[in-house]
Amino acid sequence: MTPRFFERYSRQILFSGVGETGQRRLLDARVAVVGCGALGSFQAGALARAGVGWVRIVDRDYVELSNLQRQWLFDESDAEQGLPKAVAAARHLGTVNGDIRIEPLVADLTAENAEELLGGVQLILDGADNFETRYLINDYSVSRGVPWIYGAAVGSYGITMPVVPGATACLRCIYPEPPASAQPTCETAGVLGPVTAVIASLQVSEALKMLCGAEPSRRITTVDVWSGEIRQVAQPGPGDDCPACAGREFPYLTGRTRVPISLCGQNAVQIHERARPLDLHDLAVRLAPLGAVRANDFALRFETPPYNLMVFPDGRAIIKGTTDIGVARSLYARFIGT
Ligand SMILES: [Zn+2]
Repeated sequence: MTPRFFERYSRQILFSGVGETGQRRLLDARVAVVGCGALGSFQAGALARAGVGWVRIVDRDYVELSNLQRQWLFDESDAEQGLPKAVAAARHLGTVNGDIRIEPLVADLTAENAEELLGGVQLILDGADNFETRYLINDYSVSRGVPWIYGAAVGSYGITMPVVPGATACLRCIYPEPPASAQPTCETAGVLGPVTAVIASLQVSEALKMLCGAEPSRRITTVDVWSGEIRQVAQPGPGDDCPACAGREFPYLTGRTRVPISLCGQNAVQIHERARPLDLHDLAVRLAPLGAVRANDFALRFETPPYNLMVFPDGRAIIKGTTDIGVARSLYARFIGT
């Protein structure tokens, strides 16, 4: 440990919960941030500044102008260049802390690559924007005994909960299945920057505690930064009837519940059999401010250049304008919700 090291982290080392021992543990730690939007970019930045030795950033999207209102790590030149978020994040963080390793992975986390993308890390931070990815992270976490910290935000509302396999409830203990209907997304309902920062801060605080060897808080916290309401409930232990914790069933990881996707003609991707009904008129109202939308009882067509989405009442969608499955999944998660 050099004098520079002590100086750099002096305020954190002075804090009794971390100390010199905790700081060394942070330096030896390996953490994955899945999703590098508002939550993930804040998490990655905070982990890098805190001196976490290895931060892997997994993200499939590119920086856009509409991200800058809340995604603190990115700037106008990232958006102009259309840089992948993982790459832009790694570039910025390289100038923030040159003593640690930042590993950007431009990828879409799936059942097939989960081991490759999440293997070797001791903690996973949720910066995802959809439930499909969160249930996959939960399956990976519980099956491998790797903790993760759930976090989500939309509008002025956010929620977070640490998951420590074998010690706390997991996501499926609390919500056995993903929501049955389409959920509001940041694209359709908007999101305030501050709520993403609050939730990401709580996630990183739990992460630092756990990496330093302290116990997690065992609370589910919800915050509404507009009404000012903050609520906490005690987080139970692993559920006796949880399909993941007790049943050891991991359908999201084995790919059994993976959303089937196929290339569909030239320059189009089909996402089929979501097996959940969508109210197309409802969806049309939500999408109307964002682009041209037309809906009847049988189909909804939504244009968000250079893409257009055709959505059907059973949840199926055809996304035109790309052959990239990651882009198609991202558009589906953003505009239709998961
Ligand atoms: Zn569980």
